[in-house]
Amino acid sequence: MRTLSGTPASSGVARGPWVRIEPPREPVARTIGQDEVETERARLASAAQVASAELEAIADRVTADGHPDEGAIFGAQAQMALDPALLSLAEQGMEERHLDATGAVLAAGRDLAEQLRALGDELLSARAADVGDVALRIARRAAGVPDGSLPGLDVPSIVVAEDLPPSVTASLPRERLLGFALESGSATAHAAILARAYGIPAVVGATGLLATLAPGEMAIDGTTGEVFLDPDAATSAELDRRAERARRAELEARGEASLPAVTRDGVEVTLLANIGTPEEAPRAVELGARGVGLFRTEFLFLERVTEPSEDEQVAAYRAAVEAFGPYPVTIRLLDVGGDKPIPYLPMAPEANPFLGVRALRLAATRPGLFLTQLRAAMRAAVAGPVKVMAPMVADAGDATTLLELAGQAAAELRARGVAFAPVDLGVMLEIPGAVLVGDSYFPKLAFASLGTNDLLQYTLAVDRGNPGLGRYQDSLHPALLRLVAEAVERAARAGIELSVCGEMAGDPVAALALVGTGIRKLSMAASSLAPVRRAVRGAEEARLRAEARAALDDASAAAVRARFTALLASAGPAGA
Ligand code: PEP
Ligand code: MG
Repeated sequence: MRTLSGTPASSGVARGPWVRIEPPREPVARTIGQDEVETERARLASAAQVASAELEAIADRVTADGHPDEGAIFGAQAQMALDPALLSLAEQGMEERHLDATGAVLAAGRDLAEQLRALGDELLSARAADVGDVALRIARRAAGVPDGSLPGLDVPSIVVAEDLPPSVTASLPRERLLGFALESGSATAHAAILARAYGIPAVVGATGLLATLAPGEMAIDGTTGEVFLDPDAATSAELDRRAERARRAELEARGEASLPAVTRDGVEVTLLANIGTPEEAPRAVELGARGVGLFRTEFLFLERVTEPSEDEQVAAYRAAVEAFGPYPVTIRLLDVGGDKPIPYLPMAPEANPFLGVRALRLAATRPGLFLTQLRAAMRAAVAGPVKVMAPMVADAGDATTLLELAGQAAAELRARGVAFAPVDLGVMLEIPGAVLVGDSYFPKLAFASLGTNDLLQYTLAVDRGNPGLGRYQDSLHPALLRLVAEAVERAARAGIELSVCGEMAGDPVAALALVGTGIRKLSMAASSLAPVRRAVRGAEEARLRAEARAALDDASAAAVRARFTALLASAGPAGA
């Protein structure tokens, strides 16, 4: 037996035979003379059209199979095949490097992918695979290589590959797909996203996997990132136990999904889901989320080389709205810039990106980005209740920016005669100053949501991603609790809704502190819904309130955590 360790990409255990899938081979390219450039240019254009049409057909098939969100990925690839950035780079390769259409588009795909990877962002690196995939498809068409037959699996198997282009991933027969084990790739690669949407285990970035492959069974644990080649009897038995435990935990969580998160003394807390893509919605609904408290829309923007169109955004938002109906979906406007660059949005480098032109601050120079998003959200609201919130709001001026943009977006839709519905407008409270001056703008809004991940980072001046700062990274710090208490008071005064959507809300201990501080809406990753529901149902709100009041005077996060951990441990099971 050999064990490899990779990145967990989709939880669960799979055990069985494996099948290695090779990517489609690159066709042969040749050099050309100047007199051939025009012919090759025409060949490139028609190959791009064919490739785009094929990708559209895949998008339609995947959508018709009941996976509209995965279908949208191929829709985006179909557009990428016609993207001027790719095609003009290829034409440049014909002129300057004397490459034929096949060689030029392959080189352009490589260059573009390289540019994306060089940005050092995980999501963009994953998108680099898309560009390569699309360029290869165009190159194969330009070279006259027909589309190969789809890989099939004779028996249920774990699929092993270097990386999997999305088009191949989607072509695999789902009913015979036990899981994925990839040598490269990241947790945000399409294969990983599809695995999570399908609910099958996946491990990516398992370095050395292909070189170590040997006959026999394979087992993967998508929760730990382990890959076992030819597992021995003891390991197989242990993995079967893990699988059984995971199956029971999921069943239990689903069984409790319809129970209200109500304390023993009758105070109800609404549990909402944080999602990053619409395909996460169905599982969150099954686990009992009563709406979406945070839909991080960055994914939609970062996964591509051109801005998503208004219609594409409507499709993504609407999918989430329909999955959650009749509960509301809270769409967060784009939170990029600074440390998260996007290729079609050139920005000057900044010395302190977390303090720079991030999120809503981009509206000063790129209002169109937010107007398109707001129009899409308003159009999706025809299908069910939608809320829109702006990230990184600092004060009343930023809140006014949001209100003005929303007014303009509605006016534009009205002028176009497009159907839309009003959306509730709110802000994320991620900057301490925004909480402290809340009275000056809360009354103009419908709601606010505490983004405690950033709020903590800006309160204690502590980089949220720096592993060397552990002591400061517990959001149960009394300074943060004081800000939460301030926000609760000011929101109540203004009569607006308040929720928490930072990771803190999904931590059962911290969730109790938040409820004690007066929070009644908590938004979290779907997997946290069951543990937080249990914590709330076992607690008494009056006791939580008293402890939270005392915690404001504690000297450290550790002291606050100890206080609420003891409460969680002492709580008995909730009454019927
Ligand atoms: C937060 O800052 O708490 C938050 C929810 O936003 P993100 O983690 O996406 O910055
Ligand atoms: Mg944030």
